[in-house]
Amino acid sequence: AKESGRNRICLFSEQRLLAIQSRTSLLQELRQALQEQEFLLYYQPQFHADGAICGAEVLLRWQSPTRGLVSPGHFIPLAEDTGLIVPVGEWVLKAVCGHLRVLRRAALPEDFSISINISPRQFSDPGFLTKVEQALASEPDAARCLSFELTENALFVDMDHAIEVLGQLHRLGLGIELDDFGTGYSSLSYLKRLPLDALKLDGSLVEDSTGDARDAAIVRAVIAMAKTLSLKVIAEGVETHAQRDFLAQEGCDVLQGFLLARPMPFDELKALFDCSAPP
Ligand code: C2E
Ligand code: CA
Ligand code: CA
Ligand code: CA
Repeated sequence: AKESGRNRICLFSEQRLLAIQSRTSLLQELRQALQEQEFLLYYQPQFHADGAICGAEVLLRWQSPTRGLVSPGHFIPLAEDTGLIVPVGEWVLKAVCGHLRVLRRAALPEDFSISINISPRQFSDPGFLTKVEQALASEPDAARCLSFELTENALFVDMDHAIEVLGQLHRLGLGIELDDFGTGYSSLSYLKRLPLDALKLDGSLVEDSTGDARDAAIVRAVIAMAKTLSLKVIAEGVETHAQRDFLAQEGCDVLQGFLLARPMPFDELKALFDCSAPP
């Protein structure tokens, strides 16, 4: 028994060691990825209820030489924990501004807007606003077609600071969206205090919306509440016609999900607007 006890302890610490080593090497690879420009931006189109395209969400990918195309779920949490998300986020911002410059030469719809995910760590970084201003400097009226998606944990840690920063972002002309709505604890009083432009219904709410009558009632009430606060409503994770029809009927302003379009490389997004492109 003694023997196996020792083995167990040994196994446990080896596993821990392996986990630490794999985090360390992932972090090293991520630092290198930033230097070697291995990050890529995908765009998932968003649509009005009538089917017209009205925007896109930027979704980061990592084209790793050894791991292949890596989804953000595999590296954003570590980047967030270690602060690497700050320079990565800065890269995203600059790269999106570069893409916008290209897109704006095409015939973009008047209300077209690109949204960028901003992590809590990035939002609370003291240099955040300066970096946003710098990124926009090369493309002064790009702000008009840009929104930031923020989650409750970015905004609710220090509400007064958040309100201050959101005000500055508004002054720059950026839109503000509350992401993953329905997964946290947002209360009405919080929502009222924050200068937001839109609520983004989380995929889990959208998935439930066509479940039983009570689930539908919750989604209906959330949309009605958003309207009362003059917030636009965006639904993510729309996968079925039933979900799309329900959300459109309830007055959801913007729809996003695999049913309508998958995230795609920039060139594919661009091709949607490029009238001169061959058929
Ligand atoms: P999110 O902000 O909730 O983004 C939506 C996620 O849902 C994306 O996953 C998207 O590909 C996926 N999705 C879209 N439509 C559907 C659908 O119909 N069904 C289902 N099941 N999923 C759908 P992705 O691209 O893997 O991104 C995961 C998360 O990584 C994002 O969640 C966001 O929190 C984070 N992320 C992505 N890009 C960035 C970035 O540039 N900066 C930061 N800070 N975070 C990012
Ligand atoms: Ca998002
Ligand atoms: Ca979400
Ligand atoms: Ca999210």
